[in-house]
Amino acid sequence: MTKDYYEILGVAKGTSPEEIKKAYRKKAHQYHPDKAGGNEAKFKELNEAYQVLGNAEKRKQYDQFGTTFDQQGGGFNWSDFGNAGFDPFRQGGFRSENIKFDFGDIGDIFGDIFGTGRSSRARSRRVTRGQDIEMELEINFREAVFGTEKTVELYKTVTCDKCEGTGAEPGSKIITCSTCQGSGQVDQIQRTILGQIRSRAICPDCQGEGKTYSKKCSRCRGTGVIKDTQRIKVNIPAGIDNGQTIRLSGEGEMGPKGGPAGDLFISIRVKLDPEFRRQGSNILSQIKINFAQAVLGAKIKANTLEGEGYLKIPAGTPSGKIFKLKGKGVPQLHSRSRGDQLVEVIVKIPERLSREQKKLIEKLAELE
Ligand SMILES: [Zn+2]
Ligand SMILES: [Zn+2]
Repeated sequence: MTKDYYEILGVAKGTSPEEIKKAYRKKAHQYHPDKAGGNEAKFKELNEAYQVLGNAEKRKQYDQFGTTFDQQGGGFNWSDFGNAGFDPFRQGGFRSENIKFDFGDIGDIFGDIFGTGRSSRARSRRVTRGQDIEMELEINFREAVFGTEKTVELYKTVTCDKCEGTGAEPGSKIITCSTCQGSGQVDQIQRTILGQIRSRAICPDCQGEGKTYSKKCSRCRGTGVIKDTQRIKVNIPAGIDNGQTIRLSGEGEMGPKGGPAGDLFISIRVKLDPEFRRQGSNILSQIKINFAQAVLGAKIKANTLEGEGYLKIPAGTPSGKIFKLKGKGVPQLHSRSRGDQLVEVIVKIPERLSREQKKLIEKLAELE
């Protein structure tokens, strides 16, 4: 049985917020556990009551439903609906936080392709990482719930297929860099008002290696990269939500001359569904029943994301009542659990009645 918070505070149901506050303060003094004659259990109960009745929104909901929303342990959690109350077709119900999913480090695979020689060389030279790419991908509601695989096409910097990223024309010889005479470093002279400042920098032509190729690759002009269209498969996990981002390591722009690739960030946009809405891991939907079905009870068809199901409407169901279809919601990203589908029943009131219907309703009215 639910506790009567008004009784706990010792006030009447229509009491003003000021009176409730006053009553709470008085009783809190009386029951405070630090005081002589205090009662911890009663003090806790008092606080629980005041947290609901002292809050205009919670009090309104308590008055309407006779219970607090975070109290029905394990069952239907009203607080999921937020303070605005239940409205499955409310816009903006999507969670907006960005969660990044990492689908393994594809950069590691590239490291293997280039061989281990590259990484030891890379220490002595300046390696430029390729740029990250950000894009949006629109998927439909069901795809977001159950997961899918998509192929995206990107025009981006990729490894030159002619020189395999080395920047050397196939068959060309390795020669000493003429810019730095093989030292890998060049002197830079800056003129300032205090005179000339001499500094050393990594040779821009050989990136500090001191060696270069006798002939630059004709396709990439020695950069090791070219622009090309690539198709990339993207695994979209079940339960992904609007605004969340998938990260594919190493699928961004390729770095020049063997530099590591950037990452690809795909921001997911989920299209609205005409029938279903999502709220966290729950799916919200509505079904319409007629007056007779509401009064007498009925077994009616209710659509779920996986097809038709049946919902047993008990006799005397009011409009706005919510039924739970357990496990018919959205799978959780990092666990095996799944949310529920919450079906709101709307009772249709007939706008026009036949003569016979009218007679029957009038008869009903007489009986009441
Ligand atoms: Zn090339
Ligand atoms: Zn050089």
